[in-house]
Amino acid sequence: MIKLLKALFFGSLVWATPAFALNIVTSTQDLASITEAIGGADVTVTYIVRGDLDPHFVEAKPSYMVKLSKADLYVAVGMDLEVGWLPSLLTGSRNPKIQPGTAGYLDASRAIRPIEVPTGTIDRSRGDLHPAGNPHYWLAPENGRLVARAIEQKLEALDPTHAAHFKANLAAFEAKLNTKIAEWKTKMAPLNGASVVGYHSTFDYFLGAYGLKIVGFVEPKPGIAPTPSHTLEVSAAAKAAKAKFILVEQFHDPRDAGPVARASGAKVLTVPTAVGAMDGINDYFGLFDRIVTLMNTP
Ligand SMILES: [Zn+2]
Repeated sequence: MIKLLKALFFGSLVWATPAFALNIVTSTQDLASITEAIGGADVTVTYIVRGDLDPHFVEAKPSYMVKLSKADLYVAVGMDLEVGWLPSLLTGSRNPKIQPGTAGYLDASRAIRPIEVPTGTIDRSRGDLHPAGNPHYWLAPENGRLVARAIEQKLEALDPTHAAHFKANLAAFEAKLNTKIAEWKTKMAPLNGASVVGYHSTFDYFLGAYGLKIVGFVEPKPGIAPTPSHTLEVSAAAKAAKAKFILVEQFHDPRDAGPVARASGAKVLTVPTAVGAMDGINDYFGLFDRIVTLMNTP
């Protein structure tokens, strides 16, 4: 009888246990979208920062720590983007598997070449949000490719049994990316050489990829609110360069770019910064589809 019960018990366990799937948490929806594309059915993916929010500022909720406590892998943007909230979440998760420096922590910024890395001394008291360079690298599609490759390597290392799936998924992701990159390049070609103003330096990688010139920012420094003297300066630069747009992240109030727009004649354009930032932006490809469309809509 005991034997029979044992057989039933273990038999049902085997039957009820689903195939092994890595439990992955990412910082942003963009990283989640790329991770889902590479991991496919062999992983479960959730994220911390909703795409419509400013990823620099996140409330460290206890529910995030619970989510992290069960993760096998954490994928971070890195370059200090998450410095204000991730360390306390990781500590609070009490999960040794995903701490920085362990195999279950992937800093995706290691895969890309950073821009705007400061050379002088960094003074955080002045509110500089980009002490390690510009961390908004996911907004260049070629960086998405590099991040996807790094994620594939990591998934293979953590779950070698599904390596063939991850490799095939990466190949499919890159094939689609190649097609889309050609399409975006054609659509962005008329804007090559155009001047624009940013609000925050969110789109620098994107603008660099398509040959647009940034003549200034509404913010005097990353994370610092506009000041009257700076607004005059940016307005003059924007007017002189005949800036076409002022790109404003969807989480900022477009009215804050109003003074520069009125003084320079540049148009305020609210632009999505991430997957999930606006309705209908459901994956990494959809993000660029929308940005390219918005910049080409007069
Ligand atoms: Zn930033």
